[in-house]
Amino acid sequence: MQFQQIINQENPKSHLLHTIRAGKLPHALLICGGEGVGKLPFAVALAQYVNCLNPSETDSCGTCIACHKINQGIHPDVHYVLPIIAATKSGRHLLTEDYFDGFRARFFTHPYYGFEEWQQTLDGDNKQLFISVHEMREAKRKLNLKAFEGKNKILIIWNIEKMRVEGANAFLKLLEEPPEKTLILMTCTDPNKILTTINSRCQRVYLDRLSIDDIAQYLIQYKNIDNQQAMEIAAASDGNIHNARAYTEVSSLSLHETYVNWLRAVYIGDFNKITTEAEPVYKASKEFQKSFIRLAVKQIRDSFLYHLSLPQIALATPREAEFHQKFAALLTPSKTERILTELENAQRYIIGNANAQLVFTALSLKLFIILKDN
Ligand SMILES: [Zn+2]
Repeated sequence: MQFQQIINQENPKSHLLHTIRAGKLPHALLICGGEGVGKLPFAVALAQYVNCLNPSETDSCGTCIACHKINQGIHPDVHYVLPIIAATKSGRHLLTEDYFDGFRARFFTHPYYGFEEWQQTLDGDNKQLFISVHEMREAKRKLNLKAFEGKNKILIIWNIEKMRVEGANAFLKLLEEPPEKTLILMTCTDPNKILTTINSRCQRVYLDRLSIDDIAQYLIQYKNIDNQQAMEIAAASDGNIHNARAYTEVSSLSLHETYVNWLRAVYIGDFNKITTEAEPVYKASKEFQKSFIRLAVKQIRDSFLYHLSLPQIALATPREAEFHQKFAALLTPSKTERILTELENAQRYIIGNANAQLVFTALSLKLFIILKDN
């Protein structure tokens, strides 16, 4: 993966390239940023840059043997630690390498593969994924070996906030005194969730939130959809490219339109119409239902920003903006909070395989009551 394949992130990229030229790249770097801004692709692009045999001032060459191997996830000096389900097999603790083929097949064909997708790949939502102490001992063992062919040994840890205390204790020494020519790259969505012992020992780089234009460009280029649809999906995706990808994959049904029609029916309290509007949702796939609720959460939050006269913070297309303007008048802080709680509950029920028709009918009814409440 080259930097040129990374969407936006010009500032953090040029900052890092500058640091590298000055010979000041720290041995451990925390790559922070919101969901779906491309932290893992960024880490891999950086790993490729520092191990490329023929890098330019601004990017890896993309063609040398090191680039080729990193780009396929098969470079022997670039190691990965991924959150996984703790399990044992024949008395042995399972590690990232046991799951790595599945990860490689997905991530290296779609670099904007997200953590939620990984979770679904492993177990379909319900189990906790985390980084174990066994994993960190194994990482330490690998990094203490001599580099096989790379200029640098690199450890990429995806979602370091999934590391538990015992894992962190095993990792601390490695982080403080890594073997020579070792670079540790960690990604994290919420620095507040990282154990302090780790947090205080890392330099950070912050990735930028992606704009509607960034995401729309990505969709047009990789998903082969037209400009207007790309802009709508991008606006609905909350700056998160994983959401955008999920929205394009769920169905050709326009999510936003479905949401608006459903919410109108709910507000009016016309239960025949609610059933008609909710039907395409509860009859669609579970993925679509989850996307629909995620979109509803985003839309309600944005409408509330309009209510607070902060429209500039909401990412909205002109058509959405028009809807928010009107709907904002019906919201109060308390109503917004109650609606968001109901949406979160509905999402939990859907993930837990509850009957979708019941979930969406109950949700519609609860939202009707909340909106009518004085
Ligand atoms: Zn190269």
